[in-house]
Amino acid sequence: MNDTLPPVVPYIGRFAPSPTGPLHFGSLVSALASFLDAKANQGRWLVRLEDIDPPRTQPGADKKILCALEAHGLHWNDEVLYQSSNLPAYRHIIDTLISDNQAYYCDCSRQMLKNYPVYPGFCVSNDKLTSENAAIRVRVKDEDLVFEDEIQGRQSQQLRKDIGDFVIFRKDGLVAYQLAVAVDDSRQRITKVVRGSDLLDSTFRQVYLQKLLQLNTPGYAHIPVIIGTDGKKLSKQNYAKPLDPKNTSNNLYLALKALKLEPSRDLINAPPSELVQWGVVHWDIGKIPRKLGIEVHLP
Ligand code: GLU
Repeated sequence: MNDTLPPVVPYIGRFAPSPTGPLHFGSLVSALASFLDAKANQGRWLVRLEDIDPPRTQPGADKKILCALEAHGLHWNDEVLYQSSNLPAYRHIIDTLISDNQAYYCDCSRQMLKNYPVYPGFCVSNDKLTSENAAIRVRVKDEDLVFEDEIQGRQSQQLRKDIGDFVIFRKDGLVAYQLAVAVDDSRQRITKVVRGSDLLDSTFRQVYLQKLLQLNTPGYAHIPVIIGTDGKKLSKQNYAKPLDPKNTSNNLYLALKALKLEPSRDLINAPPSELVQWGVVHWDIGKIPRKLGIEVHLP
């Protein structure tokens, strides 16, 4: 036996919807891609509900999303994690960053920043501000951040030049998405994040935070987002239709095709469990095109 082999890290994937509305076709494709990649790699697949933005949360959307996942044969492992149950942990991390001088308060208004694509650092040495009515920004270092995306290839960004010190705690008292995701992907020991390419740009901030906090960084694969016939990304914001629960087989059939798999026509009416299992067996991430959007004509 060769005892010099590195230990095999078990695959853990995840789907992390925000409960801002019911599941639509674009989010089904993301959920399916992350599920198929996890299961084709004998992995576990977790669901995390990113419910830390109450003004955007739609009451009952969490349950609707979970029911829709189950109806489409996408069954998760473990208990669903609600980010709202982690608020004290995020707050503790933010306080530590402040006391280590890695983050600072900022009370710049949107109006003040509207002509600056990159945060110009107005509050960087303003030590009169406190948590009352101020956001918190993390200081970014002057270095290149590089990661390898399994679909989109090598990605590189200079955070200081491209983004600047970014918000980890919002002025309205809410934890910023970037921090919560970076912390939870690590706490849940996620080894691979498969999600839509609309989040590619956020990945730099998440990887930066993971490094700063000495947390694990997962691998990433960003699938092209689904673009409707109007040329726009399907999203809750442009009122993409909720999935029809009576049409689960057809939804899955179209989602498999959007992921460049080629299910035969006789699978159109197969039960969801069979379509999903077919997807696991035929999943090939190498077939996903290296582009940010794919147009799908939905019925
Ligand atoms: N909660 C985010 C959304 O629904 C996705 C987060 C992620 O996959 O990292 O857009």
